[in-house]
Formats: sequence, structure tokens, C-alpha cells
Amino acid sequence: MTDERRSLPLARPSRYSPEVYVGVAEGESQALAPLVAESPERAIEAAGIASERAASLTAAAHAHEPPDAPIACRRGCSTCCHAKVLVVAPEVLRIAAHLRATRSPEDLADLLARVQAADVRVRGLSRAARAEARVPCPLLDADGGCGVHPVRPLVCRSWTSYDAGACERYWEAPAGKQTPPQWAIGYELAQAVLAGLGKACFDVGRDGTPLELIAALRITLERPTAGERWHKRLPVFSAAKDAEWIEANVPSGPSGKTVP
Ligand code: SF4
Repeated sequence: MTDERRSLPLARPSRYSPEVYVGVAEGESQALAPLVAESPERAIEAAGIASERAASLTAAAHAHEPPDAPIACRRGCSTCCHAKVLVVAPEVLRIAAHLRATRSPEDLADLLARVQAADVRVRGLSRAARAEARVPCPLLDADGGCGVHPVRPLVCRSWTSYDAGACERYWEAPAGKQTPPQWAIGYELAQAVLAGLGKACFDVGRDGTPLELIAALRITLERPTAGERWHKRLPVFSAAKDAEWIEANVPSGPSGKTVP
């Protein structure tokens, strides 16, 4: 899954202009901010609504401006699940809540051990170094599917490749390479909803800075009170903030206000 934030080129004239994506992000932030402000549980709900919204917007776009080719993404293809994934806090809280509700204590302990081991290997790596390290997402299940597919991050949802082979070649060493061909509208819509969720956090005084998924998940699983602490504006996710993203997107440095 990519952590990039840039517009993909469209192959033909489209009603999905950059202004549409800005409008989606703004609309989502306004709709979700009251939920985020209320409680950590409602912030998790906001992440779920955002995910459903991305799905419905993508389905509508699919009907009006379908992809130029079949989407190659399918269960069992985990090529992009070796890449850096960025999330905002309500998303990782939602994943942790889903895991606690669906896994046995033994399974959770095994998963936490895998998350900790992966975190040790990837903490602080750049996007390119992370891809080359070939460390799989610890949420992958045994047959290569996403173990949290119903609550997967918006970044994961955004990846809509036309060519699995191109993905394999790209993720072997992405630095300087062209992004594999994909359905730009689906990608941009999910990214716009993610931007709206992050902005909703900031708009109500909560930190919406993008977090590296594995580090954030480790914190959330190790500290059951992480959601409450985040909601109380305590810096519980500081260690998971993605320095590479901050350096590229926040002129004033890590303390500045950001919109993912
Ligand atoms: S959360 Fe799921 S889809 Fe995303 S990288 Fe991990 S296994 Fe892949």
C-alpha cells in the first residue's frame, strides 16, 4: 500500500476534478468532526463511516466513469502489503477494536508479537527502504489475505491496480519508478476521504497527523487506554508519527498543523 499523496493522471476528461476531491475532503471533515469530538468510541465510528463513504463514492464513480481495465487487486495478492501504510488515529483505534472483538486472547498475543517484531524491523524506515526491506504487514493472514479486510485502512482501500505484474516490479524497488497503472479516481476518492478524516481530527483539537500503521498498531495493542489518551490530547502516538511524511508536508516541522 502506498503512502504517497499526489494526484494521479487521468486518461480522459473526467468530472472528477481536483476541486471535487477537495470538496469531498471538506465535506467529510465537516460531517465527521462532531463524532471525533465526542469520544474515542465515536471517533472509531467516524473511521467506519469514512470507510463506508469511500466505498460508496468509489462505487458511484465506478458506475459513472468505470476503470479503463479490470482492477487486478484480489484476495491473496499481497504485493503492496510490504509497503509503508499511513493511517490516522481513529483508523488504527478501529482496527484494534476489531481485533479485540474478533480474536482470542491467544491469537491477539501472537499477533502482538508479530507486530512488535515487524516494528523493530521497519521503525523509521523511508518509504523506499521499507519496500526494499520486504517486511510483510503483520495483519496479513496465512493465505495472503488482509486479516482486517472489513476495517482496513483507507490507504489500503485506495490502491486499485490494473497490473499485478507491474505492482511486483514497482514494489521491489519503488525509488524513482513510475507508479503502476491504476484507477486514478478510486485512488483519489479514498485519499480525499482520508484527508477529510484527518482534518476532522484537527478541527476538534485532536491530532490527525499520519501515523505509520505498524508502530501505531503496536502502541494501540500494548496500551488499551491509547484511545482515551489520544482523545485527551496526550501524545500517545508520538512514536508512530511518520517523519518522512512530516518532512515532506509540514513546512513548520512536526509541531505544525497538518492535513493528511
Ligand atoms: S492492513 Fe491489510 S491491506 Fe493493508 S497492508 Fe496490512 S494486510 Fe495489506
